[in-house]
Amino acid sequence: ATAAAGDYLSGLNAAQRRAVETTEGPLLILAGAGTGKTRVLTTRFAHILLEGRAWPGQVLAVTFTNKAAREMRERISALLGRPVEGMWLGTFHALCARMLRTHAPLVGLGRDFTVLDSDDQTRLLKQIMAGQAVDQKRWPARQLLSRIQLWKDSGLLPSDIGPTEDDGMAGGQARALYTRYQQRLRELNACDFGDLMLHMVSLFRAHPEVLAQYRRKFRYIMVDEYQDTNRIQYEWLKMLAQPEAGGSQGAGEAPRAPNIACVGDDDQSIYSWRGADISNILSFEKDFPSAAIVRLESNYRSTAHILGAASGVISFNEGRLGKTLHPSDAAEEGERVMVVDAADSAAEARLVAQMAKRLHQSVPQDWGDMAVLVRAGFQTRPFEEVLMREGLPYQVVGGVRFYERAEVRDAIAYIRAMAQPHDDLAFERIINVPRRGVGAASLQRLRDEASARGLSLQQAVAATLKEGKMKGKAATQLAMLLEVLEKGRAMLGAGPGGAQDLQAHQGASAGGGLRESLGPSHVQAANQVLEGSGYLQMWRDDKSVEAPGRLENLAELLHAMGDYPSLPAFLEHVALVMDSDTVRDDGGRLSLMTLHAAKGLEFDTVFLPGWEEGVFPSQRSVDERGQEGLEEERRLAYVGLTRARKRAVVLNAARRRLYNGWQDAIPSRFLDELPEHHIYRQSQRRPGQPAPHQRSAWGAPSGGTFKHPYRGGTFRAQDAGSGRPGTATTPVRAPAESVPSSTPARPRPTMRPHSFTLGQMVQHNRFGEGTILAVEGDRLTIHFQDHGDRRIMARFVTPLS
Ligand code: ATP
Ligand code: MG
Repeated sequence: ATAAAGDYLSGLNAAQRRAVETTEGPLLILAGAGTGKTRVLTTRFAHILLEGRAWPGQVLAVTFTNKAAREMRERISALLGRPVEGMWLGTFHALCARMLRTHAPLVGLGRDFTVLDSDDQTRLLKQIMAGQAVDQKRWPARQLLSRIQLWKDSGLLPSDIGPTEDDGMAGGQARALYTRYQQRLRELNACDFGDLMLHMVSLFRAHPEVLAQYRRKFRYIMVDEYQDTNRIQYEWLKMLAQPEAGGSQGAGEAPRAPNIACVGDDDQSIYSWRGADISNILSFEKDFPSAAIVRLESNYRSTAHILGAASGVISFNEGRLGKTLHPSDAAEEGERVMVVDAADSAAEARLVAQMAKRLHQSVPQDWGDMAVLVRAGFQTRPFEEVLMREGLPYQVVGGVRFYERAEVRDAIAYIRAMAQPHDDLAFERIINVPRRGVGAASLQRLRDEASARGLSLQQAVAATLKEGKMKGKAATQLAMLLEVLEKGRAMLGAGPGGAQDLQAHQGASAGGGLRESLGPSHVQAANQVLEGSGYLQMWRDDKSVEAPGRLENLAELLHAMGDYPSLPAFLEHVALVMDSDTVRDDGGRLSLMTLHAAKGLEFDTVFLPGWEEGVFPSQRSVDERGQEGLEEERRLAYVGLTRARKRAVVLNAARRRLYNGWQDAIPSRFLDELPEHHIYRQSQRRPGQPAPHQRSAWGAPSGGTFKHPYRGGTFRAQDAGSGRPGTATTPVRAPAESVPSSTPARPRPTMRPHSFTLGQMVQHNRFGEGTILAVEGDRLTIHFQDHGDRRIMARFVTPLS
């Protein structure tokens, strides 16, 4: 054990090691990006277990994303050399969902409550607003919903909303609508994401004995990305972290200081729009006066150039706590951050696809080691298009994902309607899909019937049928639907799986504590419902080009279900992946995601497109929150750049498509904040630049001039007009042979101009064939088979491709 202990601690620097070994009492680790905060937390978790200070179930660890939780779980198992069961490790929401399952009745919910996704929430709110005759054109449901979300994130119940706090939203009815919304959720035996936290905090307040139980249980609490916790999350943590007065410790003993460790970086606080409160960092010392503070200052992730660029940008922010951050001793200088001008967003996407392809072929770099990080979701579309067209493997992380595709959502609604007969939202979604002759009017009648008699919608349908109040096609079709759902339910309880299934899924279902349906019987039940209801047939009969893909998605959905021990476990998973972040870990795909979703992650190569005023910084942020909004945007830029290990490429488009036309774009102010000596500009925009259509794919004005990346001074652009948008085969143009325009070029035999691109094959007299990894001015970094990576003057090589 000692040898093993040495192993896992020896990989840490002194400050990191101190943070790992400070297991008792409150601890705050405040440090910049890539300094090993997450690594420290993971190692600390393993250390606590290895030292026998706690069982896995006695440590509570909060991560910001499901992906981060998964990675942490894997790394802890790796450090311990065995799988670890029973850990309480996950996002705030996942942890609260788990607690709430156990105590749901205390807040008026059944244990089988449903977690609504945002579509369901909106639909529900729309219904309620319609009932109150609120003008939804003027007060869109989504807007009110995000306000409700914000209230929940701040820990405010409907009763806490004062008349001034609703800003006259929804014609002054916001509070009443919030109240009604909460009521409806209870009636539906459902809650939304915000409720998971809110219910747990209310529950802890109302039932101190439950809280006491958890306080005794969790000996150690750890929180990653602490800067982005919001009010309600902080409240929850503080409640759990308070020592149990007169509790576990013996009489006369002073209450122990809580063993809570939080790690964070004020420069990466990017969720204030969702109620995150940076003052949580500042109040930590106040709330936990004996807190030890550890600072980590070496960045192990990025090259010196990347770090220099990121530090340069963030230094423009005024509201900072102030930290030191420098590259680790082992860090390479690396390539400069490349700044690239593109003609428009399509060209921008093409350039990225091309560079990615080249890197993949030449370095070679795994697709999974590259990411495109955008400011807003809409920006992924051109990238998706080009990547799809070129057949390059990619995944949209947090956008239109598998579980959001219409047919997948329908199928899940069927499954929910089967498993949870009181789930009216699910039933409503599928009651007329495929068409069963149930129009809006009949649906409304059924709804009225249900609420008048206190029935679920399914019960109301059954009653209406029984009383012969419905006739014709709709009646036979709905009778069939109910029968099919009922049959599915029966299969869930006592499936034909039996002992065999039990064996196969025992491991996974251990410790769940719920009455779980076993094994593939839930898959069979789901299949039966989708088949029997005519839903699958509907797509088989559909002759559109999308139909086959939809059927594949539905098949895939059933496969996915089989990976879960039970239907409740699967539905819980679906609810959680719908949250925001999940990456399906099949590796080997270029990731497309928002900067927000990229927090905590790292990639060898990061592409950062759309650095234009209005896009990034986002107009909305700046309009709504002024200087503060701008500073948060800048923190996003810092987060984006610091995701890169080896290579960062920042792009901007000269014009961008709007709803109804084109708009010339102004390069982002953040581009000007990048320190000149850490970047390499592929082209330079000037006042009076040519119109976008006259520009090459890289935006270098045709036949114009641009500045030398290192030495200043103006150089003639070589042959810049040849790169046509749309083909863009040799986009990265090294100004290798360019000469000051004021000085006549001295002709030299070897100085024939060439242009070089990332990933291009070249020939060198001594080293032979190589592949270009980076282009910096007239210097190329080239990978040679037998001679490794070399920096070489461009004039000494000739292009092969
Ligand atoms: P972020 O602020 O982006 O969340 P972080 O502070 O959590 O970053 P980590 O993700 O833990 O940083 O670490 C960044 C990278 O540096 C990881 O690849 C990690 O394995 C590596 N690293 C951390 N500490 C060391 C160390 N002492 N020696 C070598 N590599 C390290
Ligand atoms: Mg981290």
